[in-house]
Amino acid sequence: MPMTTPDAAAIAAGAAALAAGRLVAFPTETVYGLGASALDPVAVAGIFAAKGRPTDHPLICHLASADDLAPLVAAITPDAAALADAFWPGPLTLVMHRSAVVPDAVTGGRDTVAVRVPAHPLALALIGAFGGPVAAPSANRFGRPSPTRAQDVLDELGDAVAVVIDGGPCEIGIESTVLDLTTEPPQVLRPGRISADQLAHVLRRAVAAEASGPARAPGMLESHYAPGARVEVLGDIDAAMARARDIAEDGGRAGLIAPGAGDTDNAVTVLAAPTSPDDYAARLYAAFRRADAQGVDVILAVPPPAEGIGVAVRDRLARAAAGR
Ligand code: AMP
Ligand code: MG
Repeated sequence: MPMTTPDAAAIAAGAAALAAGRLVAFPTETVYGLGASALDPVAVAGIFAAKGRPTDHPLICHLASADDLAPLVAAITPDAAALADAFWPGPLTLVMHRSAVVPDAVTGGRDTVAVRVPAHPLALALIGAFGGPVAAPSANRFGRPSPTRAQDVLDELGDAVAVVIDGGPCEIGIESTVLDLTTEPPQVLRPGRISADQLAHVLRRAVAAEASGPARAPGMLESHYAPGARVEVLGDIDAAMARARDIAEDGGRAGLIAPGAGDTDNAVTVLAAPTSPDDYAARLYAAFRRADAQGVDVILAVPPPAEGIGVAVRDRLARAAAGR
């Protein structure tokens, strides 16, 4: 993708802001990130302050290339090398034993560090121009849905961010797969676009799918990713429409996210009618935000099948539903 002049100017401004210890929001293929220089603990502290995020929740270090991994980790294991080769740049975060250069502020005091190389030309240009690892969580207030458009970041964090780089809507729309390589077998801590089966195929051995229960990974609270409206997950459109009519009878306003949702009656506001599991992921968080903007009280979601990225979409819906 050729870089337009505005993009080049935004990258230069972003790199300068990172070097000055300030916060820069940037697009990735998953969601927008809120970045700071990963090796500057004061800058990293600014991320937690801007988000209102508990400081024991670790951040992901974003690199411009797998060649930049070695200084951050204790060792590049054969598993890490194989996965980086197969999936980077891409929506896979690897949790590895850290080196001494990674500040406690980034790892939440753990002896592990999470790293990935994002597959987005503007993210790679920014990190490359800055010339070091960029620590970044999603660029939202703590507990809220991740932003998938630059305007979402401005609406929620505008004042706290020195530069927002606008790359248009994020292609994938939900956060990266997080794989812990420090356990045996390796374990998925957060499902995403890259499935446990894809990881197992590259590693040529079993990968533990995500553990159940609230405390499975730091920062993976049950109550994450929640919009202001209540979220309810229903089995099919008929069940959702019956529920929508009940809500309307009680004077409430229901919103619908469902494959095949279309010319339904005016008991519901259709928030998204995804045409595939990938499309569902891409539209999910914008649909949550639209619900809040349109005064929807209850979001009724009919999930995609539990395969591929559908596993990750169902995970986010369950967390959003648990959030209220
Ligand atoms: P976010 O910054 O909101 O995209 O979330 C980053 C997620 O990566 C966290 O919520 C953790 O689940 C995971 N993570 C980051 N660093 C570590 C680490 N050192 N050990 C385990 N999980 C991590
Ligand atoms: Mg987040």
